[in-house]
Amino acid sequence: MNNTILVTGGAGFIGANFVLDWLAAGLGRVVNLDKLTYAGNLQNLQDVAQHPDHVFVHGDIGDRALVAKLLAEHKPRAILNFAAESHVDRSIHGPEDFIQTNVVGTFHLLEEARHYWSSLDTSEQGAFRFLHVSTDEVYGTLAAHDPAFTETKPYAPNSPYSASKAASDHLVRAYQHTYGLPTLTTNCSNNYGPYHFPEKLIPLCLLNALAGKPLPIYGDGQQIRDWLYVKDHCSAIRRVLEAGRVGETYNVGGWNEKANLDVVQLLCDILDSLQPRKDGQSYREQITFVKDRPGHDRRYAIDASKLYSELGWKPQESFETGIRKTVAWYLEHQDWVENVNSGEYRRWLDQHYAES
Ligand code: NAD
Repeated sequence: MNNTILVTGGAGFIGANFVLDWLAAGLGRVVNLDKLTYAGNLQNLQDVAQHPDHVFVHGDIGDRALVAKLLAEHKPRAILNFAAESHVDRSIHGPEDFIQTNVVGTFHLLEEARHYWSSLDTSEQGAFRFLHVSTDEVYGTLAAHDPAFTETKPYAPNSPYSASKAASDHLVRAYQHTYGLPTLTTNCSNNYGPYHFPEKLIPLCLLNALAGKPLPIYGDGQQIRDWLYVKDHCSAIRRVLEAGRVGETYNVGGWNEKANLDVVQLLCDILDSLQPRKDGQSYREQITFVKDRPGHDRRYAIDASKLYSELGWKPQESFETGIRKTVAWYLEHQDWVENVNSGEYRRWLDQHYAES
């Protein structure tokens, strides 16, 4: 075993940010296993395409033979499971992929992790970790004055996405209790930041605003979410990997509860100052209320005090500073935006594979 980690889903939004930060900090080798679904984008990893410590592997976490081969070949000291189907709306229209990847895929990954871990010697077994990246949506919804979710809150998922993540969290827990696999689970609130696929609220509204299109807000826009800058989520995962207690779960959040409408209005205000509309109107003019999502949870709020008190982690960005950085990143990366919007990143992928 060496200083290699196996990251799954490392071409997606959070996984790619994690891999980029990990390599920039010189923390060791990364074997990056990603199926490259519509959400996986190798352009997110362009800066490390030639990095000697980055090995990209195109494949599925549910492919047992491939996972076994990667574990035997690279002998990682940890597996970090970011791979998932992650979009609630897509889970409502087509839940099957969510069950396949989030539940069955995680099960296969756990099975191979267990076999690999059993083959290690005692000191290697003690050092090994399986870190599962999950969401606060597993806890269900809160009323306005309910206390924020702690790690002891019973699970009550309300969408096929959150139910599939809850199932995977339970499997991870069971593998620790039953087989002794040294697992860690993180449950994080809504992330935002660079490389966010433009189907999610913040990048969708940002890009629609710039394109002169409506900014769609579900229902009355008063659904409350906690928001965390993606780089802070990545630092929390690094901290839990380093010092988290085996078998524990850690909530990760930004102490930033905001109603969706407030988030979009703030975005509009920042855009008004950085790139004003040509007609002098505010981008707020483009806000449009649309029919609410079925079963839409009203409020999520996360209590991350365990992570703070046990491991000393806290976020670096406030919502206001993080959102400004995010807007600036999108304005500076119009090529990335255009490639994603036009589907060009898929062609780039095909070309990349044709050449390699
Ligand atoms: P994403 O959809 O942007 O990326 C998911 C990645 O996983 C993609 O690169 C995709 O190609 C890959 N993938 C999908 N199925 C796969 C499979 N079967 N095998 C291998 N790779 C596969 O998602 P994200 O927003 O980066 O989320 C990453 C993880 O963090 C997910 O587990 C998600 O549940 C969790 N999470 C996300 C948020 C958020 O706000 N985005 C918040 C909390 C937790």
